[in-house]
Amino acid sequence: MAPSLVEPESVDDVLRNPLKQKPQLVAPEPEHCPGPESQQAGKADSCAGCPNQAICASAPKGPDPDIPLISARLEGVKHKILVLSGKGGVGKSTFTSLLAHAFATNPDNNVGIMDTDICGPSIPKMMGVESETIHVSGSGWSPVWVMDNLGVMSIQFMLPNRDDAIIWRGPKKNGLIKQFLKDVEWGELDFLLVDTPPGTSDEHLSVNSFLKESGIDGAVVVTTPQEVALLDVRKEIDFCNKAGIRVLGLAENMSSFRCPKCTHQSTIFKPTTGGGKALAEEMGIPFLGSVPLDPRIRMACDYGESFFDSFPDSPACLAFKEVVKGVANQLGLDASSVLPQE
Ligand code: SF4
Repeated sequence: MAPSLVEPESVDDVLRNPLKQKPQLVAPEPEHCPGPESQQAGKADSCAGCPNQAICASAPKGPDPDIPLISARLEGVKHKILVLSGKGGVGKSTFTSLLAHAFATNPDNNVGIMDTDICGPSIPKMMGVESETIHVSGSGWSPVWVMDNLGVMSIQFMLPNRDDAIIWRGPKKNGLIKQFLKDVEWGELDFLLVDTPPGTSDEHLSVNSFLKESGIDGAVVVTTPQEVALLDVRKEIDFCNKAGIRVLGLAENMSSFRCPKCTHQSTIFKPTTGGGKALAEEMGIPFLGSVPLDPRIRMACDYGESFFDSFPDSPACLAFKEVVKGVANQLGLDASSVLPQE
């Protein structure tokens, strides 16, 4: 058996307590230590005489006191949806922005995007609000409003310079995500879309634990058809299963490309094992549909415009509407209440 570099942690423990704030001890834990993060830390008989006693006794214990505040702040949010991808480069943030614009095409819907991709926040650029800043009032932080019914929160709005790198370790990311949930005035929203970075790391664990009490409706998982992407998507779906997050469905992006000049259709990311549809069947999750590559989506994202408003009859837009209907179905909503009447 190959050697393991790290002692495996219990999955349940990591998911319940993703970023343990272990007290900074001044001496090694003695043999009969009850555990510096335990309720008994610093108070148990075996702690008597331990050089860490004062530190352990004063370390925060028990459930996170901010969780009820987060639940209260999100009381007016009807549906909370995570947008996940196993791999980078599958167009997840593009998908989030399209989903938000699609929901917001119905003026009766109020939509929010929370960008938790702390190190690579691309949502503000895609939504055309890159140079905006956050307004802070006595009641909290205001999202940046792209349209009357579509607001965004991202770390990008806090950077002194657009190109500043964000070099943060887990606990700091965790703190900002908590602030996005606790301090932002999300108000009455029909949909809060949480855009996440690729993988199953700090950001995903934080969002999951902070939203556990207020409830996550589910996750839309985005992939491209080729096996390299599907490999990581399997892990993402496994993460959802272990974390108790319902998978609303798998959506395949960049499934094909129709040349605008000769109209020949090419499959750029060839699905050697059947693509997203076959994977969805294999894993027993809904398949939401395939969206073709369209250079105009890239253009809309670069210019911060709504692809839905600009090219409503394009094949990609029509395909994406099917994905939106699939998400609505999974949420138990009538698709006509999500998208405007055609
Ligand atoms: S004070 Fe108690 S809990 Fe803390 S390290 Fe010492 S024995 Fe362990």
